[in-house]
Amino acid sequence: ESVEPDEWKSTVCRFCGTGCGVLVGVKDGKVVATKGDPDNRSSRGLNCIKGFYVGKILFGKDRLTKPLIREDKSKKGTMEGFREATWEEALDLVASKLKENYDKDPKSIAFWGSGQQTIMEGYASVKLWKAGLLSNNIDPNARLCMASAVTGFMTTFQSDEPMGSYRDLDEADVFVTWGANMAEMHPVLYSRLTAHKLSNPDVKHYDITTRRSRTSETADVVMEFRPQSDLAIANAIANYLIVNQKFDQQFVNEHVKFKAGTENLGHSVNDDYDSTEVGMAADKAWEISFDEFKEKVSEYTLEKAEEISGVPAADIEALAKEFADPNKKIMSLWTMGMNQHTRGTWINNLVYNLHLLTGKISKPGNGPFSLTGQPSACGTAREVGVFSHRLPADLVVANPEHRRYSELIWNLPKGYLDPLEQPGYHTIKMFRELGKGNVKFLWSMSNNWGQTLPKLNRFRGNDEDGKGVKDGFIVVSEVYPTRSTELADVVFPAAMWVEREGQFGNAERRTSVFEKCTEPPGEAKWDLWVIVQIAKRVLAGKKIGDQPAFDVLFGSIWDSANNDLISDQHEVNKILWDEYRAFTNPHESDNPEIQELGKKLKTKAKQMAPYEEYFKQHGICWPVRNVNGEWVETNWRYVHGKQEEGFDQYGVEELGEVGKYQDIDFYKSEDHRPSVFFRPFEDAPEIPDQEYPFWLCTGRVLEHWHSGSMTRRVPELHRAVPEALCEIHPEDAEAMGIKTGDMVKVISRRGEVEVKATTKGRGNPPKGLVYVPFFAEETLINLVTLDAYCPISKQPDYKKCAVKIMKA
Ligand code: SF4
Repeated sequence: ESVEPDEWKSTVCRFCGTGCGVLVGVKDGKVVATKGDPDNRSSRGLNCIKGFYVGKILFGKDRLTKPLIREDKSKKGTMEGFREATWEEALDLVASKLKENYDKDPKSIAFWGSGQQTIMEGYASVKLWKAGLLSNNIDPNARLCMASAVTGFMTTFQSDEPMGSYRDLDEADVFVTWGANMAEMHPVLYSRLTAHKLSNPDVKHYDITTRRSRTSETADVVMEFRPQSDLAIANAIANYLIVNQKFDQQFVNEHVKFKAGTENLGHSVNDDYDSTEVGMAADKAWEISFDEFKEKVSEYTLEKAEEISGVPAADIEALAKEFADPNKKIMSLWTMGMNQHTRGTWINNLVYNLHLLTGKISKPGNGPFSLTGQPSACGTAREVGVFSHRLPADLVVANPEHRRYSELIWNLPKGYLDPLEQPGYHTIKMFRELGKGNVKFLWSMSNNWGQTLPKLNRFRGNDEDGKGVKDGFIVVSEVYPTRSTELADVVFPAAMWVEREGQFGNAERRTSVFEKCTEPPGEAKWDLWVIVQIAKRVLAGKKIGDQPAFDVLFGSIWDSANNDLISDQHEVNKILWDEYRAFTNPHESDNPEIQELGKKLKTKAKQMAPYEEYFKQHGICWPVRNVNGEWVETNWRYVHGKQEEGFDQYGVEELGEVGKYQDIDFYKSEDHRPSVFFRPFEDAPEIPDQEYPFWLCTGRVLEHWHSGSMTRRVPELHRAVPEALCEIHPEDAEAMGIKTGDMVKVISRRGEVEVKATTKGRGNPPKGLVYVPFFAEETLINLVTLDAYCPISKQPDYKKCAVKIMKA
């Protein structure tokens, strides 16, 4: 039966970092339809299959609708042993456990946030944990998906700020996908790429990948490389440009410096890796001359790169020639293939090298572009500082001026945030400490760590580390029962997606807001309400100066008359938005100290618009500047003034030094010069051998979002891909007597799972590599994966470890 909505509300999809606009049709307070939003400039009316069905995620039959308290700890690991509780009881219990553990040992508490929290939910979590509890033990699941992109930006540019936007997809002559299956992971952007390619037959696409995917099907050149050897390929292209004098000499002279960093970093397989000298030294880098760089990179000849990677030298040379051609505009795109990499920061640096050496950067169609996985990995995790080392607006805890600036905006006394000086536990460390029993209180929100963390046996009880999870106090804010709620002591039922008002920040840095369209089921509540309720209890009796701490931090959104959060969600979001906006708009402050320090710290680089403007414009990319009364977005950053005919583009003249740096100014880089880094090839921590002869690569499929807890409850998506399959090369399968449909065991040094094999999957892995997606909770492929991580970004590598395959 078709139902005509009473009204259409503007929202944004919650299923990937593309951030497509979705119009939600509402009738009688119920969501009855969705369609693409033509006014969202990121997606221009398009949605993929997940976006098409996004409305149905609200209606799974087993929504969590009441708080749950575990009565029987022996049943941890299952959804048995819980009883229903009132909110009052559950909140009191959680607050008392948080306080009890915090009072005994502040390091024993942790919060695991998410790139799926709304921006203001993330902001409120940061405020509670960092300003309220003075704890840096807060990190987002975005650590698992784009931390290497952040450290890549920071090491090369000293700024977490992309140069370009999705508009580059309409302009480039050459696309390079570096470890990115865009056809399945960013389908709307991929359709924009292929549309541009179809209408411009000379446009070329090079797909650099460890397995042929749907993205490879439309590429002109597929460069299938041995896992980890992308480092050698990128170095060989840089070497080619230098040896053949095909780099942009003038751009390099004016805008670039050269650096080298610590080598032989080792691998973070052992728990104590963080404290080793290698781990601590990982961030060290020093300036070198062009000639030193030339000398160092010279070992990466095309032939050597072929030897390491298996990619024919002729293909690497063909791509190098594209970079060498001054008339070609090149866009590099990447996602988890580069970020989930034990040298993730390095490979990010190496791709920037190619764009910096050739000056193909910050111009329409020319640029390196890191695609993000989650809907608000950028807006929430990065921009408001949910990382253990960060504060809002790109600020970091270790810098005294950054802490001071945060104190000014949060009305805290001078020096109040000084205890935050040392970053807290990054995700892998946090969960290793949980496993060992050193983190005794964990609260996770909008994520499913019980399924998605690597080397899951640490937490699921089959390992001695599992004891920490059993004994610890674990709180999970969730919408459906998951592999994480079954490890919880308390489950808070959460309002999801359009059951509350919120904001997401996407990969091109477009902040989009969504209206509340319907009520959550049962007693499910907005996560931000829960955060503030816990704050009210935990901060009771605590003072900041002579004021109650809660009043200082959350008084502006508290309704004293009703002793509750202000009931109008729009009002709450707006108040918090204005406060967050004070970080990014220091020039609007009445306080000269904020004005001055903000100017020095260049926080205006992320300048935000007034909250209502985001509703009006259906999303805006930062920095947003007021030009003759209009709030205007930015699509190419680090550039001055009007950039090109046809592009009404505004850049960074207020942040850089106009004139001195001509058209482009890397205004946050040391000496305004980003670094071309020498980073060598170093092998993966675990490579196939006689006992474990296959590489295992994990990832997603088009139809399912991450751990599948929402998309598997949409019948159409579940029917389309009902189970995880292990993709095997036909010759490997034949050699082992395995046929499509057979159950196989995938076994590593850490664990084993059973999964159905296929030789006819969507992807075609090369011989010696198998691929298993991680959406299926019954398969739980992360029992097998390795939790080694990039020593600089601390992001784990889900893309490569060694396994054996046996017929089950
Ligand atoms: Fe767009 Fe991603 Fe949602 Fe698909 S899943 S509609 S590409 S935001």
